[in-house]
Amino acid sequence: MGEAQVRAAELYSLASGRGKLTLGSLPVRGKISTASANAAVTDSAAAGTAMASGYKTNNGVLGMDPSRTKNLTSIAETARDRGMKVGIVTSSFLNDATPAAFYAHQPSRTDYYEIGEQLINSGFDYFAGGGISRRKGRKENLRDLYELAEEKGYRVLNTRNEILAAKPGTKIIAAAAAGALPYEMDRPAESPSLAEITKRGIEILDNPNGFFLMVEGGKMDWACHLNDAASLVHDMAAFDEAVKAALFFARRRPEETLIVVLADHETGGMSIGEGITAAELFPVLSAQKESSESFTGKVDRFRKVPQQTFEKMLPLITDSFGLHSLPERELDELRTAFAQSMLPKEQRKRDREYLRRYGPYEPLSVTATRILNRKAGITWTTFGHSGADVPVFAHGAKSAIFAGEYDNTEIAGKILSVISEASEQKNE
Ligand SMILES: [Zn+2]
Repeated sequence: MGEAQVRAAELYSLASGRGKLTLGSLPVRGKISTASANAAVTDSAAAGTAMASGYKTNNGVLGMDPSRTKNLTSIAETARDRGMKVGIVTSSFLNDATPAAFYAHQPSRTDYYEIGEQLINSGFDYFAGGGISRRKGRKENLRDLYELAEEKGYRVLNTRNEILAAKPGTKIIAAAAAGALPYEMDRPAESPSLAEITKRGIEILDNPNGFFLMVEGGKMDWACHLNDAASLVHDMAAFDEAVKAALFFARRRPEETLIVVLADHETGGMSIGEGITAAELFPVLSAQKESSESFTGKVDRFRKVPQQTFEKMLPLITDSFGLHSLPERELDELRTAFAQSMLPKEQRKRDREYLRRYGPYEPLSVTATRILNRKAGITWTTFGHSGADVPVFAHGAKSAIFAGEYDNTEIAGKILSVISEASEQKNE
């Protein structure tokens, strides 16, 4: 979530009638640099570790120093050890890098089974979002992590109704999907929203000793990897609803609640150009009816049917992206991408030009969203992360210390100083 993501979401939100972003009402503004120990452009493991522990590490490493020998304590673990309750919420899967940076210590972010084991051994009170990915591991005879979690005293809940009815008292793993939660624009009614699982978390964690809750709008990053601005602005709105839920709680405890909204890095090198106004951006982006990922499901099904033609595909593109009466140049771009997308994946010639155009993604989906995004005045420079600084928004107790420009490693110390002061006041 860089500045352009915030701005695009704000323009969309205003034009849609939803109003200004709630996060924009947080009174304190800051800005953080995000480079990792070994790269100008960080990944989520290194950035999560920096924010959670206050130390830089190499890309790919979770909760350990760059030599991968020393564990780095996270602020969530410190909060737990001081008797506070702890919750971790994400729209991604629960053992993805950002949530894991708060409870895991692993040489590699892809050691999903081991990260899942550390999740259930963390003793944290509330995990909610998607599921634990690869919970049965890759080897034979590994035990299902949900079974192990139940033995450790967790209740594993899967449906929206179960999750929203959960009461304080037991530790909870609310795994509302097998992998990540759906994109907000594809979300079916039976899948809980990020705000719902955040609100439930606040109610479950609230107690006289206080709590620490980390909430990640993880699919915003995924949308930007796909250069899919429509999915982004919907997931930003969903995240903003979670901020609203936090503010609602903070208003009842203004003296003792701190809310910090920030990003681990920017994704996509997004920019808004060409003198676009909200009135111009909205009709273009709102014509997109499903995420790029969901459209890719259609492309996959289309590929399996023999004798498919671009002419038969075109109405599907129009349905999903509202792209009609395109100039020949853009039709050509789509035709070229269609030809690649109809090839079985192993037959595609992934040369430099292919990767520059489509990255690791489905050529037709990427091309359709990029054409749509261009019409909305939005361009992207990469399918990966960028080295841009990212914004910080803060509200409430001691929030003034989050103003100004600093490094992402300073976040942990600032939050710890607020926790320490609060616990001293409690002990007086
Ligand atoms: Zn990412």
